[in-house]
Amino acid sequence: MKIAMVSAHASPLVEPGGSATGGRNVHVAALSAALVRAGHQVTVYTRRDDPHIRTEVATREGYLVVHVPAGPAAPLPRDQILPHLGEFGTFLQRHWSMHPADLVHAHYWMSALAAELAARAHRLPVLVSFHGLGTVARRHHGLADTSPRSRIRFERLIALRAAHVLAASSDEAAELARMGVPRFRTSVVPGGVDPVAFAPTGGAAARGARYRLVSVGRLLRRKGFDVGVRALAELPDTELVIAGGAVGDDIDDDGEGRRLRRIAGEHGVADRFRILGPVSHVGMARLYRSADVVLCTPWFEPFGLVPLEAMACRRPVVATAVGGLRDTVVDGVTGRLVYTPDPHEVARAVRPLLADATLRETWGAAADDRARDGYNWDKVAAATLHAYRRIAPQCDAAALSTR
Ligand code: UDP
Repeated sequence: MKIAMVSAHASPLVEPGGSATGGRNVHVAALSAALVRAGHQVTVYTRRDDPHIRTEVATREGYLVVHVPAGPAAPLPRDQILPHLGEFGTFLQRHWSMHPADLVHAHYWMSALAAELAARAHRLPVLVSFHGLGTVARRHHGLADTSPRSRIRFERLIALRAAHVLAASSDEAAELARMGVPRFRTSVVPGGVDPVAFAPTGGAAARGARYRLVSVGRLLRRKGFDVGVRALAELPDTELVIAGGAVGDDIDDDGEGRRLRRIAGEHGVADRFRILGPVSHVGMARLYRSADVVLCTPWFEPFGLVPLEAMACRRPVVATAVGGLRDTVVDGVTGRLVYTPDPHEVARAVRPLLADATLRETWGAAADDRARDGYNWDKVAAATLHAYRRIAPQCDAAALSTR
């Protein structure tokens, strides 16, 4: 099968951990690599944001990345890409005339908008992974939501026009149903984890004698890092270490970083709290392995690769029961789910785990099994292919006959 992946903003070639990069970059890269391993041809289309980058880059993993000229060849905040999507779509349409694809898989609503405009001329089916919905963002952020005002309206139109929608979690599937998308046109296909890169064995980052909690993610309010900072006040002899990029790229000058440090000061835990800044993706496994418990306490999370990575490193995860975390973390088996982002609840969930190394090991082992067997990228690619076959069975038959 010839698969055109459209990821206008998140390039698979860019390392996560920066201010504007994260799970979506990892997802597009790892899924494309796994589809190539399964015998398919994958081309990823992403916006050119650097004048010196080559138009086409063949990756070691076997997929091709095409840098689409649309707007300035410079980084743009995600929410400023909308005016350049027409140019992006025109490029796709021309490119697909010369390099035909069997189907299009678009990531995030803006990519889907450009993809649907371009695919129409070629009668190509478009599958969409939203990686988060505007309705959810608006519900939690209210007036502070920075998404373009048109996002919610566009997402509904895109979802209704798409050949199929891949929801990242059961929660997202329910949200899509509430938006009027028929359930039979949605499949739940989660994110995944690389079980070789994230494994229980290998070194761990240096740490002291205190218990260690680790949290990971871009320094955004919605990631709820403050819950962990406040919970520290009820967890003596415990430190919290956060890895992730600041929105302004300067960890000391970052608004959310400053706010977290102020909260730590107010709660008398400043000496047990540290923000590391971005950690290279290859360094993440060592960081997870240095933790006793990994904390994920976002307000909302479309999927969340971090808990899976921690689980594959055999660490129990304490998480808020939102979005994809409700599917990945099994309460009382691989970690704990808390139903309100309340520091007392989080401290109450963490305390028994810190007090009992056997419990940590037992839940960590169950977490490792679950992540490795249930969510490795080859399995995610198989579920994705299953959805592709539902909408384009003839392409798969052709692909199989040429092998
Ligand atoms: N990450 C990283 N270095 C950091 C912080 C994060 O490599 O300093 C990676 C992390 O390992 C994970 C991704 O960024 O693969 C975050 O994905 P997640 O889905 O949890 O959150 P998102 O970025 O999509 O909000």
